[in-house]
Amino acid sequence: MEYDFIKTRLAPCGLHCGKCFAFKEGDIAENSQKLKEQLGNFSVYAERFVDMLNKPVFKKYTEFKEMLDYFASGECAGCRNEHCKLFKDCKVRACSEQKGVDFCYQCPDFPCGNTGFDKHLNERSVKINKQMKEIGVVNYYSKIKDEPRY
Ligand code: SF4
Ligand code: SF4
Repeated sequence: MEYDFIKTRLAPCGLHCGKCFAFKEGDIAENSQKLKEQLGNFSVYAERFVDMLNKPVFKKYTEFKEMLDYFASGECAGCRNEHCKLFKDCKVRACSEQKGVDFCYQCPDFPCGNTGFDKHLNERSVKINKQMKEIGVVNYYSKIKDEPRY
C-alpha cells in the first residue's frame, strides 16, 4: 500500500478518515449509497408491509431512510483536504503542517497537549501514533484498514 494513498485515509492525528461516516469516499458513504439504490422506492412498500405482513417495524422506515440518506451524503474530502467536520477544535492538522510532519509521532514534541482534543480522543490519538511509530505507517494501515472506526 502506497504511503501517499495512506495519507488520504489516515489523518495526522492517526484517526482513520476512510472509515468515518462523513468521508465521501469512505465505506460507510459508499455502502449507504449502494443500499439506497437497492431499496429503490421502498417507502411505498414499507407503508403497505405494516398491515400486510403485520410488521410494525416498517413504521420506522422513514426514520431509517433519513439516517441512510445522511450516511450516503458523506461530504468530507478527508482531513488533509479540508477542516474536519467532526472535531471543530482540532489543532492537529494545522500544527502538523507547521511542524512539517505527516503524523504526530514524527514530531519532536509528541505527545503534546496541543491537539485541541478531549481526553478520550487525545488518548486514542497518542495510542495510534505510538503504534505507527512502533510498526510503521504502512504496517499499521494494513492492520486496521478493514476495521470499523466506531
Ligand atoms: S476530516 Fe474529520 S470529518 Fe472528515 S473524514 Fe476525517 S475524521 Fe471524518
Ligand atoms: S505539536 Fe502536537 S499536535 Fe502538533 S504535530 Fe506535534 S504532536 Fe502533533
